[in-house]
Amino acid sequence: MRRKLIVGNWKMNGSLTSNTALLESIRTAFACASFRPPCDIAVCAPAPYLAQCRIALTASGIVWGAQDLSVHEAGAYTGEVSGAMLRDFGCTCVIVGHSERRAYHAEGNGFVAKKAMRAVHAGLTPIVCVGETLSERETGQTEAVVASQVDALLAVLDRDALQRVVLAYEPVWAIGTGMTATPAMAQDMHALIRMQMSARHADVAETMRILYGGSMKPENARELLAMPDIDGGLIGGASLKADDFLGIIRTLVANRNHKDMLDVSPSEAHDGNNAE
Ligand code: PEP
Repeated sequence: MRRKLIVGNWKMNGSLTSNTALLESIRTAFACASFRPPCDIAVCAPAPYLAQCRIALTASGIVWGAQDLSVHEAGAYTGEVSGAMLRDFGCTCVIVGHSERRAYHAEGNGFVAKKAMRAVHAGLTPIVCVGETLSERETGQTEAVVASQVDALLAVLDRDALQRVVLAYEPVWAIGTGMTATPAMAQDMHALIRMQMSARHADVAETMRILYGGSMKPENARELLAMPDIDGGLIGGASLKADDFLGIIRTLVANRNHKDMLDVSPSEAHDGNNAE
């Protein structure tokens, strides 16, 4: 059974002041006994705010991470941030190969795979993003594009390294646009990715978490997160508002409560009725 994972990607947003309020709201909700989300939660902040996350989230049960790391280990790479530096600030995860980095920084599949490996070597969980553009979808290339992105990972990461990886299927046309893949569309892609992984490492495929990203919000999260191969969400815009981010997490609480109700055995249900 894969535990769900909800990750906020703040992108290049926030300030010391606004982050304080956002982190405090999330932390407070998480500390509330009745909240008990059946998932792991991570916040991926801009690098300058990782120290702030560390102070705000230590011992909260919420983990934090970065949105990118250098492909290099250390040295003369002005402006870059290494995996070891992220670890120094308590990061446990890092987003790798987000479509915005692929598009605006020309990060190719092989380069992304090397970054994922660098993250693993630094003791971080890489959250590796894959996904097709609108024109790729419209020209029937979705499966091939995503398969080649996953193949690049399989070429560089061995079984042990893959066990540290979280994948995020993020159709580029759905990111920040308000358009979302339908739950069935997303499920199909997640199942395909898992099958591709399974052909190489069946056990890894079984436990690997594959998140969905692309305009996830409280209104559509419940159905998406109920899909059998969708193991959580990578949330951009909605992670910047505590109500929306927590609203997405609350849909998991609702899904769990619904499942708990369905799991009640007939005798338990009967007992419950008698007690009334
Ligand atoms: C993202 O950038 O990873 C993302 C999914 O963004 P949004 O939720 O805003 O579409």
